[in-house]
Amino acid sequence: MATSNSFDVIVLGAGAMGSAAAYHLAQRGKRVLLLEQFAIGHDRGSSHGSSRIIRYSYNHPAYIALSKAAYPMWFALEQEADEKLYTRTGGLDFGPPDEESLIDTGIAMTASGIEYETLSSAEASKRFPQFRFPDDWLILYQEETGMMAATRCVLAHVRLAKQHGAAVIDNSPVVNLTIRSDSVEVHTRTDSYTSAKLVIATGAWAGAMFETLDLNLPLMPLRTQPVFFQPENSADYQPGRFPCYIAHTFSQYAHMGYGLPDADGIGVKIATHGGRAVNDPSQINYTPYDEEVEMARAFARKHIPGAADAPVGDTHACIYTMTPDEHFIIDLHPAYSHVVVSSACSGHGFKFSTLIGSILADLAINAHTEHDISLFSATRFGESHERDMPPLVAVY
Ligand SMILES: Cc1cc2nc3c(=O)[nH]c(=O)nc-3n(C[C@H](O)[C@H](O)[C@H](O)COP(=O)(O)OP(=O)(O)OC[C@H]3O[C@@H](n4cnc5c(N)ncnc54)[C@H](O)[C@@H]3O)c2cc1C
Repeated sequence: MATSNSFDVIVLGAGAMGSAAAYHLAQRGKRVLLLEQFAIGHDRGSSHGSSRIIRYSYNHPAYIALSKAAYPMWFALEQEADEKLYTRTGGLDFGPPDEESLIDTGIAMTASGIEYETLSSAEASKRFPQFRFPDDWLILYQEETGMMAATRCVLAHVRLAKQHGAAVIDNSPVVNLTIRSDSVEVHTRTDSYTSAKLVIATGAWAGAMFETLDLNLPLMPLRTQPVFFQPENSADYQPGRFPCYIAHTFSQYAHMGYGLPDADGIGVKIATHGGRAVNDPSQINYTPYDEEVEMARAFARKHIPGAADAPVGDTHACIYTMTPDEHFIIDLHPAYSHVVVSSACSGHGFKFSTLIGSILADLAINAHTEHDISLFSATRFGESHERDMPPLVAVY
């Protein structure tokens, strides 16, 4: 007989992944508790803000398969939430023609049956006059690329989870876990809860939490800083005129970049895929560093000149949790098959979050999912590694 502190599944962390997992579990009739250390919808993790890119344009067919599954799930969520969460913008992938990730993106889209256009630099500049490309660059355009309204997606998952019966408790950090052979106990500072299954989706805090369960993974939190520029001719940077982009520019600038149109008046987003390693994700300086703004300006000067000298709008840092191979962790705990572990970040997980929530629910309920998650094994790094490794992506 269930008591108010007893659940089928407890989900830790109400970011993109945990909120989606709680929604799918509750929708499937499970008694779910979602616990969050901060307020629901907070801006101190990885899932806040107005926009995240969703795209098919990946350099690996496994991610394209996930995108194929994720798009319709977002559309179903929009229906149920009665809220627009996706905005189609079209997307550019561009860079020098010998950039491996760019070449592989075209190959993977072709192999996966995703339609896209290959544009010359002249054609792309004519169609998107905000951009400048060297003459010999390779430019791919995929029309279904778009933006997800990040914070509103989290809020929609939480709201609908509650409507399906989930209990949601925020401002309650989990401070201790007791794993028994067939159940778990979860302790906050004031309360304890029990459940048959546990889903851990605690973002940048997951590495330390996994260690308490003898699971040592090379997860590296990075403080990352997108910059929002506010050019005078703002209409040119709205969805419909300005596409999302991925700049495959590792060989040129030692980093990859990305950007999104102005989602809601805060500016066009110009960002570097990378950041500064942080030891404690609770102790981050959220104010932009001058050199980060300058780095985004330097990129804009070369490729989006109309934004380069524009004032900077409200800009708030965010956290990536990187793995060395930039693939996610989505798996059962190797020693506890009733504990599901997730770290679906490396800076590109949001687009899949409603799908990953469903996969986490599959794993919690059935210890199995029909989706191919073989890239995301929790044991792929072996036993010996340093958690506080240097980041393998651009550091500025
Ligand atoms: C600047 C930036 C840009 C990005 N751009 C894109 C993009 O364009 N496209 C894309 O697909 N992805 C993008 N990503 C990645 C994507 O946002 C992440 O993959 C995703 O948000 C990760 O969600 P999460 O739920 O794993 O982590 P989080 O959002 O951090 O959620 C974890 C939650 O767990 C909570 N928690 C931690 N410890 C405890 C505890 N002890 N007790 C209770 N609660 C706890 C935290 O407070 C937090 O709310 C971007 C990320 C950033 C930072």
